[in-house]
Amino acid sequence: MVVGLVADIHANLVAFEAVLNHLKQTYGPPDVLWCLGDIVGYGPDPNDCIDLLRQFNFVAVVGNHDLVAIGLMEPELFNPDARAAAIWTGQVLRPDNKLFLQNLPRRVVRDDFTIVHGSPRSEVWEYLLTVSAACENFRHFETRFCLVGHSHIPVIFGFNPDTGNCSRADVPPVLDLGKVRGRLIINPGSVGQPRDRDPRAAYAVIDTEKHTIYHHRVEYNIRQTAEKMLNLGLPERLAIRLNYGI
Ligand code: ZN
Repeated sequence: MVVGLVADIHANLVAFEAVLNHLKQTYGPPDVLWCLGDIVGYGPDPNDCIDLLRQFNFVAVVGNHDLVAIGLMEPELFNPDARAAAIWTGQVLRPDNKLFLQNLPRRVVRDDFTIVHGSPRSEVWEYLLTVSAACENFRHFETRFCLVGHSHIPVIFGFNPDTGNCSRADVPPVLDLGKVRGRLIINPGSVGQPRDRDPRAAYAVIDTEKHTIYHHRVEYNIRQTAEKMLNLGLPERLAIRLNYGI
């Protein structure tokens, strides 16, 4: 089974389409998309991104921006730009898409994988950026692997059950999960707003027969997304940052 992993699409349809095209050309049509939350927020195409995801067989969890956009979470931790984009998103989302976001679970388990947006300890809000935070989180899920988004930074945290030690590594282009000793928390990076100083869209593919995960970066037309955002009156800083991957 070919599983496409997409996290933090953030209403960036141009980036999402580029990722799906790359996925189809490289692996054929995916059997399922696993979406790690924050489908909307920041970007100009919230309805189109939800509609496109729903054309696929998919599993999705809810992210903090999804909840804030539909009024189910207060934006008190958002900066003014993120808050302005969330308010705009809430105004333009169609009722059926609001209902869609409202019904998304916070955690899903599929085979060897637990799927959450932020962390298994705090599914919607916690950012997993440090080894110590990740290490504490291995107690909060049962499966061998956990897939997260939220930080927009591709990263792998490992837990070695023999030593009790945790580690951090970059996501390699190819990783044979069958050869992994211990457990992993994997963040494939963000489709629609990368923050690791590489502006290309990030996503991953899991081939469940080969027990292998593939990580990709895909160029897309950033200017097209940025112009849409400016034309819609979204904060200029949110458009500019896309060029720098920050
Ligand atoms: Zn996000």
